[in-house]
Amino acid sequence: MPVQCGNLRSSVAVIGAGVSGLIAARELARRGIDVKVYDQKPKPGYPVRASGIFSISGLEGLGIGYKPAITNTLYGAMIYVGTKKMKVLSNEPQAYVLDRLRLNEICMEEAEKHGASIELGKRLDGETLDKIHNDSIIIGADGVPSLVASHFHFPPIHRHILTYRAEYGYSLEDTRLAELYFDKKTTPGFFAWISPESSNVTEIAVGVDSRYGNSKSAFDKFLQKRRARGIALHSKQISGSASIIPISLRKRLVNEREEVLLIGDAAGQTKPSTGGGIIFGGNAAITAAKAVAAHIRNGLPLTSYEKKWKSEFSKEIRLHEASRRIYSSKGFGIMLLIMKDLGIDSLLGTYGNMDKPTKIVKDIILRRKQHG
Ligand SMILES: Cc1cc2nc3c(=O)[nH]c(=O)nc-3n(C[C@H](O)[C@H](O)[C@H](O)COP(=O)(O)OP(=O)(O)OC[C@H]3O[C@@H](n4cnc5c(N)ncnc54)[C@H](O)[C@@H]3O)c2cc1C
Repeated sequence: MPVQCGNLRSSVAVIGAGVSGLIAARELARRGIDVKVYDQKPKPGYPVRASGIFSISGLEGLGIGYKPAITNTLYGAMIYVGTKKMKVLSNEPQAYVLDRLRLNEICMEEAEKHGASIELGKRLDGETLDKIHNDSIIIGADGVPSLVASHFHFPPIHRHILTYRAEYGYSLEDTRLAELYFDKKTTPGFFAWISPESSNVTEIAVGVDSRYGNSKSAFDKFLQKRRARGIALHSKQISGSASIIPISLRKRLVNEREEVLLIGDAAGQTKPSTGGGIIFGGNAAITAAKAVAAHIRNGLPLTSYEKKWKSEFSKEIRLHEASRRIYSSKGFGIMLLIMKDLGIDSLLGTYGNMDKPTKIVKDIILRRKQHG
């Protein structure tokens, strides 16, 4: 027997037209649910003028027609810890760099094509939210800080990474590789990266744990290093912006009584090791939309979303968190040498899965079994 819960509102309001909110709207609309998305920006796509790195397998699972947004293909990474370095390179493409604004436009077109309505340039406050909530279930996809989360008293997100990124009109020598720099003094609790956005645009960025530092001063410090300084000195800066990435999950993602759910950055659904949030948030959007549709149609509990998402991703989050602790530790440089010695660089090149570290472990065990 279906369980009857809450007031059973029959329409849905999604607050936030980032990728998570738009995927949720697309999935609800294609199930015939009346859904409206609100965003304060006239042209959403966060952060402004940015790109992002996304695993190909993760993107495929979100059902977005993302290909027109591809600006580069990555095959691996160079990892630097002080003077030590390790190359992880695959024969197969591992990730795409996507233009975030274009990706957002595609998600918006898909949501609208399925029947979602979208209202842009409307910043919601508590009062408007209450009015909308009178007859609509609320999905908070409003990033950090989330008005929906604070208005409906969700538990806090405890940890954040502060980032600063800038784009330069510079062509990297090898556009197949992202470069990652781990240095506790410059970027405590996180790392810096130099990434080929396209054949002629390079991103330089840093992240620091909000407890230990400030992203702009970390960025200025990183720019004093030879590699970054060389790029900045020999090219024109195109953009520069600071942002926040949440890296801990809220203890609760659903308020069943009020019929309110959180997804994406608003929920803290990112990989604590890299801050990547599109694949985790996109999966949450799909799971949440299914739960909301089942709630409206059959009275099933909204908490089924939280249970299902956590059962799929909690273990992955723990492993991402463990790898963040490892790379933030003093011994990471030595560990890198040991990993190279054990051939882990080539195993990662073959089996690396950016989203699901449990898959790497399973694939390596399977290979060992197959090869006796
Ligand atoms: C420097 C940097 C690099 C990153 N790189 C990657 C990467 O390579 N790969 C990856 O997967 N992830 C990356 N991320 C993380 C990724 O950007 C986020 O996880 C993702 O954008 C979250 O999507 P979202 O839809 O949940 O929220 P958002 O994209 O933050 O969207 C929230 C939307 O809500 C709207 N909003 C907020 N409040 C209100 C309000 N009161 N009223 C109306 N509208 C409101 C905002 O305008 C915004 O459009 C990066 C983040 C940063 C900062």
